Amino acid sequence: MTAPSPDSRVERDVDLATRSTYGLRARAGALVTLRSRRDLEDLETQLRSLALDWRVLGAGSNVILGEGCRNLTLLSLEGDWDSLEVDESGRARLGAGISLPVAARRLSAAGWSGFEWAVGIPGRAGGAAVMNAGGHGADLARVVRRVEVWRDGEVTWWERESLDLRYRHSSLGANDLVLSVEVQLEPGDPDESAARLRDIVRWRREHQPGGRNAGSVFTNPVGDHAARLLEAAGVKGVRRGGAEVSSKHANFILCDPGTDAREVIDLMVFMRERVLEIHGVALTTEHRFLGVEAPW
Ligand SMILES: Cc1cc2nc3c(=O)[nH]c(=O)nc-3n(C[C@H](O)[C@H](O)[C@H](O)COP(=O)(O)OP(=O)(O)OC[C@H]3O[C@@H](n4cnc5c(N)ncnc54)[C@H](O)[C@@H]3O)c2cc1C
Repeated sequence: MTAPSPDSRVERDVDLATRSTYGLRARAGALVTLRSRRDLEDLETQLRSLALDWRVLGAGSNVILGEGCRNLTLLSLEGDWDSLEVDESGRARLGAGISLPVAARRLSAAGWSGFEWAVGIPGRAGGAAVMNAGGHGADLARVVRRVEVWRDGEVTWWERESLDLRYRHSSLGANDLVLSVEVQLEPGDPDESAARLRDIVRWRREHQPGGRNAGSVFTNPVGDHAARLLEAAGVKGVRRGGAEVSSKHANFILCDPGTDAREVIDLMVFMRERVLEIHGVALTTEHRFLGVEAPW
């Protein structure tokens, strides 16, 4: 049960089962929901009074939420942060809480091109900045101009050069709260963009499994594909507790309801060891770990 506190922005002992796309069993010590810019005013004091270490949770589509979330405050951006504005030069400002597929569809329909790749990625703009999300030959680094960040009570804009965006990497740290993301788009043809969106969605349906997953578990090593290495290592269908390697895509893990972080991590360790044993390649993971140690 979630116990409401007098401040409606703060909930304590929060069930996290619906807060990650793996649907992992975990609870947060506290969840602070920021709904407007005004909520930043006393955020530092609020976090201090909760006396817990804190992290940010986006759509939870690339995270493993562990038992240790009990000792964390998680921040979530909702309400006004689900915003999108674009000016006549194609400069678009995405609130950190907006869903990437929603932003991709709206921008394409409005005649702006350069964000179509995001239609199949079920994260939010803030998480996309941290992860440098991408696919289909593009990523956020290609279009981002700057990112608005709250750190220690101060809000500043980080220019693209200071973000150090690389393959699934940025210089944003665990206590940097992304508030908005500014991208530069090009004029496009809404019909062409719509066709591109359809192709991407179709490709994903054909190649990726549905169900509770968090996308690719491992990054692709230079010149190869993690999925190919994993498939050749025979990991498809292997199970640890409620976590199973997809039989459709060897780099996806699917979770039953009630699975916990330990089970997913055990399976990840097995997958990685098999690839190391058979191909001599040490894979690295795309996932981020909140409330549990990364396994390597
Ligand atoms: C079916 C599926 C397909 C996917 N395909 C792709 C793909 O093609 N390409 C790709 O790159 N990814 C893919 N992903 C992974 C994921 O969607 C992306 O990494 C996405 O950018 C994560 O965003 P999120 O809001 O879910 O972040 P979360 O998973 O909630 O968080 C990820 C990290 O970002 C931090 N974070 C989140 N929001 C903020 C914020 N506002 N401020 C500061 N830190 C923040 C978290 O603390 C955490 O460290 C896929 C996932 C799924 C489930």
